Amino acid sequence: MSNDEGMTIFEKIIRREIPAEIVWEDDDVLAFRDVNPQAPVHVLIVPKRAVARLADATEADGALLGKLLLASRQVAEKLDLLKSGYRVVINSGPDAGESVPHLHLHVLGKRALAWPPG
Ligand code: 5GP
Repeated sequence: MSNDEGMTIFEKIIRREIPAEIVWEDDDVLAFRDVNPQAPVHVLIVPKRAVARLADATEADGALLGKLLLASRQVAEKLDLLKSGYRVVINSGPDAGESVPHLHLHVLGKRALAWPPG
């Protein structure tokens, strides 16, 4: 889903060039609602520094990966998911259905989620 200039839609959201409903952010991470929600709560969490996908992460990204997981907990707390539960998903690569080449965590909640996923 890169555009002509090679910038993904998520980079444009991070730069505030296109709108998104932002639910949480800090210096390194931005969380916003998915435009096509698959559950009553469906939030995407992205690093502001672009990493294409989990498969491309390196040792140097370790702290950032930890921040993303901790951000998912912040989002879960803010959106009242801690008690009811929630799922955190990362799609990496074609078989997983990755559609935007900028690492992102999905946080899904407020409905019972089936397992295994399709
Ligand atoms: P993936 O399939 O790569 O794991 O997830 C990409 C997600 O980005 C999808 O759930 C899709 O609905 C979401 N998405 C795609 N374009 C936009 C957009 O412009 N704004 C927002 N908020 N979400 C988007």
